[in-house]
Amino acid sequence: MTQSGTPRAGSGLDAALVPTFTAEPGAMPSARLPEHELDPEVAHQLVHDELMLDGNSRLNLATFVTTWMEPHAAALMASCADKNMIDKDEYPRTAELEQRCVRMLADLWHAPDPTTAPGASTAGSSEACMLAGLALKRRWVARGGTGRPNIVMGGNVQVCWDKFANYFEVEPRLVPMSGDRFHLDAASALEHVDENTIGVVAILGSTFDGSYEPVAEICAALDRLAADAGPDVPVHVDGASGAMVAPFLDPELGWDFRLPRVASINTSGHKYGLVYPGLGWVVFRDPDALPEELVYRVNYLGSELATFTLNFSRPGAPVAAQYYQFLRLGRDGYTRVQRHCREVATRLADRIADLGPFELLTRGDELPVLAVRLRPGITHYSVFDVSAGLREHGWQVPAYTFPADRTDLAVLRVVVRNGFTHSLAEALLADLGTVVRRLDRQKESIRTAEEDSSFAHTGR
Ligand SMILES: *Cc1c(COP(=O)(O)O)cnc(C)c1O
Repeated sequence: MTQSGTPRAGSGLDAALVPTFTAEPGAMPSARLPEHELDPEVAHQLVHDELMLDGNSRLNLATFVTTWMEPHAAALMASCADKNMIDKDEYPRTAELEQRCVRMLADLWHAPDPTTAPGASTAGSSEACMLAGLALKRRWVARGGTGRPNIVMGGNVQVCWDKFANYFEVEPRLVPMSGDRFHLDAASALEHVDENTIGVVAILGSTFDGSYEPVAEICAALDRLAADAGPDVPVHVDGASGAMVAPFLDPELGWDFRLPRVASINTSGHKYGLVYPGLGWVVFRDPDALPEELVYRVNYLGSELATFTLNFSRPGAPVAAQYYQFLRLGRDGYTRVQRHCREVATRLADRIADLGPFELLTRGDELPVLAVRLRPGITHYSVFDVSAGLREHGWQVPAYTFPADRTDLAVLRVVVRNGFTHSLAEALLADLGTVVRRLDRQKESIRTAEEDSSFAHTGR
């Protein structure tokens, strides 16, 4: 590997004067650690430039994860980049902020006693779900469960639940979609529950279309089952997105610890918690919901700390940033941000419906997420063509098919997040119109070409 611009000994050129790009290595290392050092300015520029070809995160309407924070929050995160969340002894104030956030979430979600509800920050909702799932499994064992444990959930669950079932050896009972039912409902959940069910997972809301699952109805059905001498099955709410939306926009909706059957709730701090990745939270309704044997009390640097995470070391910066957001926004601020997202989503949904070719599955009035399919008459292009067309305009709008038993259904989904404004939505809409018109014209030209060729055949 040469360093073309590195001044040769005796050349007389001061290394600091070498023009940046002339100092690049002959090839960027990709398989082997380079032998020698590189000037930090040059290294920074080169890595920065490697990343230029990543997409623009603000135009990525596929992700639920935060892509914009105030500069103050970004500065705060940079200033605590060195803090390790697990060193609670060394960074007791970071640990204190974590505990404050847990109590605030327990309170927001109506835990009977928010000061004693156990909870933890995690790398994301996935880790939070693993922990909640483990607690459910251990509680089932404690109830005397001896068969093969199963967990009941909609076929629309996020992949982390497949992982949980696989890694922790629990049978995943995925309730298929059916007709226009795109998520779990009480009746179909109940059909899959038996004495070996460790828990039912209800999602607020579904990643496939942004809809809320009917948590209260699912709990009521399980209440009746238990009252009729059936198994007494706890519910975990996967509120990766919705647990930071519903408390502000749908305060009357019963989905949280107000329902006695809800044992635990997770959310992604880095989704509608409005923090950059990676941050998740899990909160248990009360100490009984978290089996004591899962909690580690380790003597660390001279003090005792309780942990129940999968990882040990983890950045403290996202926790500080979460506390910043809670302090900065409060309930009013969160309500304003989420309401604005919902307004952008619902208006965009209405405008997309007006375009003609699309039919709404959801219109952004639960999670600020909309899913659309093409009208049945439209067969000359697919949602995948529309997605590819939007990509040419810089937008990432994913197209995908639904899980069993609606794999026939292909949709486009738009996730509206903080920072996706009405004006960006207008720009998207304009580009969507352009893409659809172009796809229509392509049909015209194909038809004309077909007519030409059939004319050529018959004319011979
Ligand atoms: C995003 C998501 C997850 C996974 O969350 P991460 O924070 O990305 O680990 C789990 N469940 C649902 C419903 C989600 O939307």
